[in-house]
Amino acid sequence: MIAMEKEKLKFAFYWAASCGGCEIAVLDINEKILDVIAKADIVFWPVAMDVKYKDVEAMPDKYIDVCFFNGAIRTEEQEHMAKLLRKKSKVLVAFGACSQLGGIPGLANVANKKEVFERTYLESPSTLNPNSATPKTSFKVAEGELTLPEFFDTVRTLDQTVDVDYYLPGCPPHVNLVAGAVEAIAKNELPPRGSVLAPEKSVCDECPMEKEEKKISVIYRVYEKIPDPEKCLLEQGIICMGPATRGGCEAQCISANMPCTGCGGPCPNVTEQGSAMMSALASILGLDQEKDSNFDAEKLMAQIKDPLGTFYKYSLPASILRRRIMKDE
Ligand code: SF4
Ligand code: SF4
Ligand code: SF4
Repeated sequence: MIAMEKEKLKFAFYWAASCGGCEIAVLDINEKILDVIAKADIVFWPVAMDVKYKDVEAMPDKYIDVCFFNGAIRTEEQEHMAKLLRKKSKVLVAFGACSQLGGIPGLANVANKKEVFERTYLESPSTLNPNSATPKTSFKVAEGELTLPEFFDTVRTLDQTVDVDYYLPGCPPHVNLVAGAVEAIAKNELPPRGSVLAPEKSVCDECPMEKEEKKISVIYRVYEKIPDPEKCLLEQGIICMGPATRGGCEAQCISANMPCTGCGGPCPNVTEQGSAMMSALASILGLDQEKDSNFDAEKLMAQIKDPLGTFYKYSLPASILRRRIMKDE
């Protein structure tokens, strides 16, 4: 719990393996940012302020009231900053899907560092690299030694690295969730430690689409079908992660006639978002009741072209799969 004092709170924002969208989400609260500034001083925000890591190192422990940390952990520098900010903060919030679940960067867990570097620096069609140079942690030049942080084989979530107090889900978190979290912090009304700062319901619970409890037999990719804008997308054969995903975003993708891809993370009381969705899909495909021996479940499931990117788009590092097993080289 944050002790409420007369003085303003101290906030910090940091980005690790992130696309920058979560930083924009903070600004998306628009004029409410003025409320934040009225309640809190921002003492560290590398994307917006000229502050150095040594400034954070010089802060007393627990000096920062709340640190909002977005992005996953994939380098030594990000791991160092996660540990440092944990030490310097009373409350650490995993902000966004990458920090909470590994997010899109976490899909790199199908490979290791060697494969990622080969693809990125040697094989990609747009790369011109005649000397086949790849990043090194240390490189000698005439002026001295240049260093880069170690790049890890495995992408980790923030809570696989340090203790986390709260989670703000989403890619990026919905503006109402960000504003609600700031208000709860300012009023000292945060829920128990470990809580996800989002409603205890699924995206389906928030979705206005009509559901008829229909079974499906064909799965369509988004570009293959123009859906009826009034009806449940899943019941029209378009995989929608709504049943397995926590709400709080007001079903905003479905409002744009696009399926939920699961950025809100697992539903309350569900730890494995991917398997929860596979189970929901098996049910709507009727696989759970099928008795006919000629029934070809594999053929039906083969219609799903990208199972990992469909069921674990944001959550591979946090899932029971976590990463692809690879032989030591
Ligand atoms: S959660 Fe989404 S918006 Fe935020 S850093 Fe990750 S990819 Fe970007
Ligand atoms: S599956 Fe998708 S479209 Fe259907 S009700 Fe749930 S969120 Fe809405
Ligand atoms: S509908 Fe799904 S993918 Fe879209 S914002 Fe909400 S939780 Fe994220």
